[in-house]
Amino acid sequence: MPVRHHERLEFTRRRLIQTFGAAAGALISAPLIGQSAFAQAAFTRYPFTLGVASGDPAPDGFVIWTRLAPDPMQIGYGMPTAPFEVDWEVASDERFANVVQSGKAVASPILGHSVHVEVAGLQPARHYWYRFTAADARSPTGRARTAPLSGAALAHARIGVAGCQRYDNGLFTAHRYLAAEDVDFVYLYGDYIYEYYSPPSSTPYVRTHLGGICYSLDDYRRRYAQYKMDPDLQASHAAHSWFAVWDDHEIDNNWASDMDMAGDPAPLFNLRRQAAAQAYYENLPLRATAMPAGAAMQLYRCAQYGDLLDVSFLDTRQYRTDQPCDDRYPSNCPGVNAPDAQFMGLEQEAWLFSNLGKSTAKWNVLAQQVMMMDLDRAGDGKVAYNVDSWAGYRAPRNRVLSAIQSRNIQNVVVLTGDEHVNYAGELHLDDRDPGPRPIALEFVGTSIASGGDGQDQNQTARNLLDWNPPLKFVNQQRGYLICDVTPERWLTEFRVLDKISDTTGQLSTRARLAIASGSNQLSAA
Ligand code: FE
Ligand code: CA
Repeated sequence: MPVRHHERLEFTRRRLIQTFGAAAGALISAPLIGQSAFAQAAFTRYPFTLGVASGDPAPDGFVIWTRLAPDPMQIGYGMPTAPFEVDWEVASDERFANVVQSGKAVASPILGHSVHVEVAGLQPARHYWYRFTAADARSPTGRARTAPLSGAALAHARIGVAGCQRYDNGLFTAHRYLAAEDVDFVYLYGDYIYEYYSPPSSTPYVRTHLGGICYSLDDYRRRYAQYKMDPDLQASHAAHSWFAVWDDHEIDNNWASDMDMAGDPAPLFNLRRQAAAQAYYENLPLRATAMPAGAAMQLYRCAQYGDLLDVSFLDTRQYRTDQPCDDRYPSNCPGVNAPDAQFMGLEQEAWLFSNLGKSTAKWNVLAQQVMMMDLDRAGDGKVAYNVDSWAGYRAPRNRVLSAIQSRNIQNVVVLTGDEHVNYAGELHLDDRDPGPRPIALEFVGTSIASGGDGQDQNQTARNLLDWNPPLKFVNQQRGYLICDVTPERWLTEFRVLDKISDTTGQLSTRARLAIASGSNQLSAA
């Protein structure tokens, strides 16, 4: 039987009183926005517990994000099950003396009361400040930065590269330092959350994931909420505009299209994917083009920074075939050469090759998830592969590197995460038999927290350097990358922390590695 309108209102009135106190109930009859969104109730608890964020900067704007959650870990997150109106403002100054745009958005319970506003009509290559107001509550202020005009002469850009934020492994101190860096944008290479349960007796566990393994939308929403209450992560979001892509742990370790680790039937895993995709969309500053349709999300996209950078953000999870050899680290795996293996899927591959073919930028960046260097991880004549990385998918890997080589595209830089280790090295068609001139260079960022404190280089790291001539640098501490780019050279600085197990972690620059334009070679800087 359909619920009549006044019954719905009465239910909502009761929920508002529960959440906001008795005064809110009196407001129910007046402030209906678009007949569905409520405004002007007074919050009894602060609703902006998860901070603010901005993302996907373009020359004329960006996405600004928040999510109303007065009680983030509870069922309903402290919000009534009704749409809620939110005001937003964008200013050209930090004190909001000059508000250049403002408007109203509806935080829908369908999307966990998240708000994604795509702001347009702004000036290129400058900072803006933004904030939200819901009822009597004002959000923290965030700072966003528009991209420079596509194709315009650009002398300098800086990129922060981060990811793998396993909350229970350590503190997000790296984000506190990243927030203070001067960058045009942050590239988040995935593993924003981990779906894991925190076992009580294992190390390294500095903090504990609330709840068990994430399966349902509610599980994932609460996991994001727990992460997003971290003040260092909030600071990093508030300071910079992010381009985020997912890797595996936003859904399930090492998932591949509709296959999970446990071998659940695809229709079953797809329901979990759908829940995870929705929670991911709700909690990241993504454009509406990324809105999930079932389990599918359109995440691969590109950005241009003047005539300096063309960045292709890839999705190497959603369209790949299954990992060969049962997804282990085999010493012999003929499956890595499977000619019909897919890694990006043919559609994304064609899109990438088209981007590369059209590009006139000084530097072409492949911002993606998993390692492209095909490292020998066993030595002694026994070759071991990370089959979850490009190394397990040699046919698609060859197509990408051949496309770069055959089009004679210079200055291709691959930015990667996933390994929880800092790496830098050369990419060849066959990394076990490298040619005289690398086709591209790869920088692998470590992790914000995954793996715990780590160390500079253990014996395994030194072995990898011995066994793999294309590999030039390894470090196993936590941190992030800063890429400082001019037309003449690309410089990557590896920022590392001495520890993340307590609040006293100190940052240092472990290495500075440069590529002179046109050289396709790494050198110490
Ligand atoms: Fe990770
Ligand atoms: Ca990963």
